[in-house]
Amino acid sequence: MTRIEGRIVRGIAGFYYVATEHGIVECRARGKFRKDNITPLVGDIVEIQMINDSEGYILNILPRKNELTRPPVANVDQAIIVFAIVRPELNRVLLDKMIVLAESNDIEPVICINKVDLKEDREAFDLVTIYQKIGYKAVATSTVTKEGIEELKSYLKDKVSFFAGPSGVGKSSLINSIQSNIKLKTGEVSEKLLRGRHTTRSVELLSLDFGGYVLDTPGFTALTLDIAKEDLRYYFKEFLELQKGCKFSSCLHVNEPDCNVIKAVEEGLIDKNRYLSYLSLLKELKEKEKRRY
Ligand code: GDP
Ligand code: ZN
Repeated sequence: MTRIEGRIVRGIAGFYYVATEHGIVECRARGKFRKDNITPLVGDIVEIQMINDSEGYILNILPRKNELTRPPVANVDQAIIVFAIVRPELNRVLLDKMIVLAESNDIEPVICINKVDLKEDREAFDLVTIYQKIGYKAVATSTVTKEGIEELKSYLKDKVSFFAGPSGVGKSSLINSIQSNIKLKTGEVSEKLLRGRHTTRSVELLSLDFGGYVLDTPGFTALTLDIAKEDLRYYFKEFLELQKGCKFSSCLHVNEPDCNVIKAVEEGLIDKNRYLSYLSLLKELKEKEKRRY
């Protein structure tokens, strides 16, 4: 039988379900990668040997672009970072932290501000504009009015994405809004019940009928930034050009003289809240380094 390539969309009890041009193939791992101690992950692109029409075994795991541990998944393209404009209150520092987390893992962030139906003013749209100006994909959505859902779908098309963000912001509801045959449980209570009952539940990539995959489990549940404090400034896109104009190349934009970033904040070229997020995350990284030594 033939050798073909595919993507692992689900793994359970030693079986891997690989999406291929011939449909889903149930595989066991039998490749040489086993002696290297590499375990196949959901998201892996694998080479498989077919045994019959629907079964095969994994021969080889292709090099990974990235690898997350919580949830365990490989080759993620995008993180849809979801926050609600209200209920729960939007936390800008946490939003900016998630952007840094995504980019430091080679994952493209897409900012999604949900529950816009609950707010009459333009706040959500102004926020979206701030992030779009920086160069991020950003969209305001409502799973109630369906506003922004088509735009969100256009970002998901042909990519492997996962949803990240605090509990209760509408991640499950958004995933359900994308496609009618996807039905995740929603509501904070049911989410907790789900976790309690199915502690060994495995992650699954849901196939989108317009192309692409969405992970059924939210990511970034562990929120530790693993970068050096000196590197944080490179994860704030809007600083990149401006900080070349700082007097010191080592400038961390806190209280150094002739800091071009602080000047830009004062002139309104950099959003004040983005700068405050930067300072807050810098402080967090400094404290983390102090604890280490
Ligand atoms: P998750 O914890 O992020 O997965 O959030 P859920 O999808 O479970 O949603 C939490 C609650 O917010 C549920 O009661 C949803 O019905 C509600 N919700 C989700 N999206 C929206 C929205 O766009 N507008 C409003 N008003 N409520 C929403
Ligand atoms: Zn500076």
